[in-house]
Amino acid sequence: MKHLISSVPGTTAAAGKRADTSASRVRSGTAGEAAGSAAGFADPSFSADLIAWQKQHGRHALPWQNTHDAYRIWLSEIMLQQTQVATVIPYYERFLQSFPTVADLANAPASMVMEHWAGLGYYTRARNLHACARRVLAEHGGQFPQDPALLADLPGIGRSTAAAIAAFAYGVRAAILDGNVKRVFARVFGIDQFPGTKAVEEQLWQRAEALLPAQDIQAYTQGLMDLGATLCTRSKPACAACPMRERCIALRDNRVDELPVRKPKKAIPQKFAIMLVVVHQDQVLLLQRPTLGIWADLLSLPELDGHAANPTKFDRARAEAMLAPFGNIDQIRQLDTISHGFTHFKLEIQPYLVSLIKRHAFASQVEHQWINQADVAKAALPAPIKKLLMDLNRQQQLVLSFQP
Ligand code: SF4
Repeated sequence: MKHLISSVPGTTAAAGKRADTSASRVRSGTAGEAAGSAAGFADPSFSADLIAWQKQHGRHALPWQNTHDAYRIWLSEIMLQQTQVATVIPYYERFLQSFPTVADLANAPASMVMEHWAGLGYYTRARNLHACARRVLAEHGGQFPQDPALLADLPGIGRSTAAAIAAFAYGVRAAILDGNVKRVFARVFGIDQFPGTKAVEEQLWQRAEALLPAQDIQAYTQGLMDLGATLCTRSKPACAACPMRERCIALRDNRVDELPVRKPKKAIPQKFAIMLVVVHQDQVLLLQRPTLGIWADLLSLPELDGHAANPTKFDRARAEAMLAPFGNIDQIRQLDTISHGFTHFKLEIQPYLVSLIKRHAFASQVEHQWINQADVAKAALPAPIKKLLMDLNRQQQLVLSFQP
């Protein structure tokens, strides 16, 4: 037997795992205004196909469906953000047993709310839930407002969640755009840009608003959620059963796996440094790094150049000037380069092995110290520098090749 959702208005959220990704406010009358400004996106056949599919194949028996109670709808919407339906159901039922109304929740101690939420994760949601209940009681007389803009002003309710509550509880024509809907739109309409950027997201909102049906908003909203959660899933979508398959650009172009476009990886800048492994007999010269910046407070090798944007050439005269307080240079040998990744840049280190023929008895400087090669293993050195020195030790190059 078919379930006709229009006969049970108030059918509510049922997306599998979804996040309200926009914290921006809902403007009053958004649907009409945006439909005008983004008329090119309007296509009544889209909502007609989706509504027909939802009524026949969508979900109709989840615990938070078949009600107009904004409190229950809101509770499910918040719980379903970033959490799977199956996980949410027992929490949702236990919450309603303990807090049957928004006033019960608002008046409960915070510790009791947190106890009921424990295990559901993302605990900011629980704190916002409690704060929201208190505001609904204090500012709206215990009734969730109908205007999506007012809903979105409450703690923990973003633009998409506000629209879902308004649509399911009050039949307001308001557009949702959670992660699942973005995925569906990116594939159906072949959107070739990462949907997380502000410009693309704004265009998606315009599209979402332009596509709203004139009626049956609950079935349409539920249909978008059901499609994203059950057919147009992140991996292995069930395109053969999809009501959008005739119009889906991703399917037509065989690009289902490519869309939506993933977040572009930032190019990590490359920097270069020349470091000197200065040795005399069985000791190596180390430098205490500053307390700020990379490798803060660790010992490291003296650097001929800082972290330059381009590779620099080794300059013997500069090396001699730099090492003059420590001794006279005997031999210099270029070693293999080392690459090291930091969070914000990659560093290519060009080390040179420099032996001193005569070491000056230099006045002790806190920032420079000679250490025995045998002590390298336990010195406070950055990992790549320690590895370099240990490798050299193993090869006995420091000792054998550079004994003055
Ligand atoms: S045809 Fe496939 S990719 Fe396109 S919307 Fe449907 S399930 Fe998603």
